[in-house]
Amino acid sequence: MNRFWSRLAHELSPYVPGEQPRIANLVKLNTNESPFGPSPRALEAMRAAASDTLRLYPDPEATELREVLAAHHGVTPGQVFVGNGSDEVLAHAFVALLKQPRPLLFPDVTYSFYPVWAQLFAVAWQAVPLDDGMRVRVEDYRPDAGSIVIANPNAPTGIALPRAEIARLLEAHPDIPVLIDEAYVDFGGESAVPLTADYPNLLVVRTMSKSRALAGLRVGYALGEAGLIEALRRVKDSFNSYPLGHIAQVGATASVRDDAYFRASCARVVAGREAMTRELIGLGFTVLPSSANFVFARHAVLGGAEFAAALRERAVLVRHFSRPRTAAWLRITVGTEDDTTRLIAAAEDILRH
Ligand code: PMP
Repeated sequence: MNRFWSRLAHELSPYVPGEQPRIANLVKLNTNESPFGPSPRALEAMRAAASDTLRLYPDPEATELREVLAAHHGVTPGQVFVGNGSDEVLAHAFVALLKQPRPLLFPDVTYSFYPVWAQLFAVAWQAVPLDDGMRVRVEDYRPDAGSIVIANPNAPTGIALPRAEIARLLEAHPDIPVLIDEAYVDFGGESAVPLTADYPNLLVVRTMSKSRALAGLRVGYALGEAGLIEALRRVKDSFNSYPLGHIAQVGATASVRDDAYFRASCARVVAGREAMTRELIGLGFTVLPSSANFVFARHAVLGGAEFAAALRERAVLVRHFSRPRTAAWLRITVGTEDDTTRLIAAAEDILRH
């Protein structure tokens, strides 16, 4: 607190990202990064782009990137918006679409940035409890909502809703904006993107941070009917006309073009998730069925906070959320085979003591 702060700065409760510690030989399973690198073709394209042309501003519309994304998803470039990480795209969507006279609804256990943007932009909201199995039940979303945001697969549970359930939600709410945050969909979820053709109120948000291993580049995007995209563009051009630097645009474009690498690394993560899940169950964990690049797991004997702290002492970082409904759980990112071996060895050591 300082006397020069605005009242708003004083009242905010900012999002707390997972740690990025500088500890050597750490098994880092706390922020859902990819254990495998980005496409080698993307790296090569970015190296070539690090040139004299950086004296120029980048393309404010990221035209080429939006074109390759449109082709990849079977939509038109006018149905694609890109931003500096999906966090920025989501923030713009809160202002452009989700802020309505009636409250925004989202699950009680979900991406903890949603209430932070709601506070920053003064968006009224209400949490809708997950059911006892930590699942979203679409019938629980009241007909008189002002807007809805659902992460699918949800985070930190990892549980995915089938596309038919999203369609059911859209059928029940034809007159309000519905945002589906598909940060983790490439690891086994069913995308709602095909539904954008039939539902003009549906915005789907994606990131290149997870399945494309480009968290350090900061590229996210949204797909939806051109009118929704236009609203995002109006907000963007009232905030920062150049959210993506030239290198980010070039790298993201090359990544989308390298579909073979993308598919192979997603498949490796899925295989790693299944192996890690089996091992965790073997140690007495309950593991929710995950369609993401992380699992949400709870141990029968040891509490979540205790387990996370004991793992940290053994140089293994996982994420723990201390709110009552999630306090018993750990969110563990899928790493390499070696990461999983070290995680399981550390967990065994903890359980022996
Ligand atoms: N949505 C969800 C559900 C997430 O977990 C994350 C990652 N923290 C994001 C969006 C944001 O990802 P990024 O800004 O890296 O695209």
